[in-house]
Amino acid sequence: MEEVALTTLKLLMIGESGVGKSSLLLRFTDDTFDKQIGSTIGVDFKVKRLIVDGNQVKLAIWDTAGQERFRTLTPSYYRGAQGVILVYDVTRRETLQKLIIWLNELDTYSTKDNMVKMLVGNKIDKTDREVDRNEGLQFARKHSMLFIETSAKSSDGVQCAFEEVAEKIMQTPGLWET
Ligand code: GDP
Ligand code: MG
Repeated sequence: MEEVALTTLKLLMIGESGVGKSSLLLRFTDDTFDKQIGSTIGVDFKVKRLIVDGNQVKLAIWDTAGQERFRTLTPSYYRGAQGVILVYDVTRRETLQKLIIWLNELDTYSTKDNMVKMLVGNKIDKTDREVDRNEGLQFARKHSMLFIETSAKSSDGVQCAFEEVAEKIMQTPGLWET
């Protein structure tokens, strides 16, 4: 059988500590949820293969091992990434507001200026919501991001979030070709 060249895309998970970045990644790659998940479980990255518009794509999704708590992600974390998933917790408004700081970091360190950004409002299974859907949507529009709400617990929206980023990257000329 002929070897098919595999496109590898680098995606980043960004956002305040506790918003559910690692849980979203675990839901996407292993389809599980662990409510005891600790920042120590954080890995460098997880890999998942997808078919996007008929192309085999390998997603290398970078998570943090809790360094985001001290806002000490290094430039190598950002280097070469074509897509980023910015996560906030819909039950904590300040986690949305703090994304401004993360967006500035991205501007400073990202090496690709047409990088695809997806805003994710996570934990929609919870009943103590502080940020409604429209508020998230407005924030996303203002900063030219895609938008979706998710629950890593119930798995709502999780698959879509990653797939849409991968699709948008593959549709952006010059972003993924080597
Ligand atoms: P991170 O610091 O951004 O990586 O966040 P974690 O993935 O470690 O999640 C922080 C806490 O929120 C953990 O106790 C998770 O179990 C919980 N959590 C994450 N996602 C959800 C969700 O969608 N719903 C609920 N109810 N809890 C969640
Ligand atoms: Mg984590």
